[in-house]
Amino acid sequence: MNENAEPLLQCEELVKAFSLPRTRLFERRRSLFAVGGVDLTVGAEETVGLVGESGCGKTTLGRLIVGLEQPTSGSISFNTRKEPSSGGNEHLDLARNAQMVFQDPLGSLNPRKRIRNAISEPLRIHEIVPADEIDERVDDLLQEVGLPIEFGARFPMQVSGGQQQRVAIARALSVESELLVADEPLSSLDVSVQAQILDLLRRIRDRRRLSVIFISHDLAVVQQLCNRVAVMYLGKIVEEGPTRTLFQRPRHPYTTALLSAVPRVKTAAGERIRLSGEPASAANIPPGCPFHTRCWKAADICRTEVPKLEPLDGAQVACHLPE
Ligand code: SF4
Repeated sequence: MNENAEPLLQCEELVKAFSLPRTRLFERRRSLFAVGGVDLTVGAEETVGLVGESGCGKTTLGRLIVGLEQPTSGSISFNTRKEPSSGGNEHLDLARNAQMVFQDPLGSLNPRKRIRNAISEPLRIHEIVPADEIDERVDDLLQEVGLPIEFGARFPMQVSGGQQQRVAIARALSVESELLVADEPLSSLDVSVQAQILDLLRRIRDRRRLSVIFISHDLAVVQQLCNRVAVMYLGKIVEEGPTRTLFQRPRHPYTTALLSAVPRVKTAAGERIRLSGEPASAANIPPGCPFHTRCWKAADICRTEVPKLEPLDGAQVACHLPE
């Protein structure tokens, strides 16, 4: 975390394991470790990029933070200005502390609910404003995300993909969370619309002074938008640090390989590094460094000892032989 920023979110030793069904009678039940012990701190007004290949655990980590999944172990705490809910409902408190914008806006909205109802529902559940002010607040939110007030009467299917994502953002903003988790919010949109939604997110973040966790595979966008970046591999953060440091001087071989594959990214990484093979399965994580099966630098120690995330020149790296 930026040294000057107050921590807003702290995840400690966060683990999420899913039980896998048995394939044979009497077989021991196995678990898939989607998140395998993550420490992550997000400061007030900080934007942290969460990057890594599909299946590395980014989305599950985001869902844990907003309370859509329960951790198997570890803790999530918020240093928020908000009062806890009077009923002591932890789920509601987590939902108020952090909201998520999803990759597929239509899938995140109820197709049978008019847009006005979709936005007003969280206002009602969390009692954000008195009942007689809800309509006015919905109007404000629609305008804030650049939609005409009349759109409130439509159903999600009656507006475009970009407009659906604006509705999803308005809904996420309605509970006035201090942290927004945006999970690939641009990837289902037409290229022409992506820049508009990115610009909207940036303006809302700055105006509302939000913290954002931006989950993305688009490293060029992450480089533009984020103060800090955390790189995930097989459920763990393998490198994290200030965006400029990480892009200019990646220290983990996996980060180096990721960056080398993106020509649009301004980086000191040289030639493209092609990783051999697919990542190991999160249900069968190799011993030692989880990346050793694909790493061109792997040495004996890498096959037996798990590297810890340790400070290195202003960043943190989990590698026995950092670049
Ligand atoms: Fe490669 Fe070893 Fe570093 Fe893992 S610990 S990334 S295998 S050099």
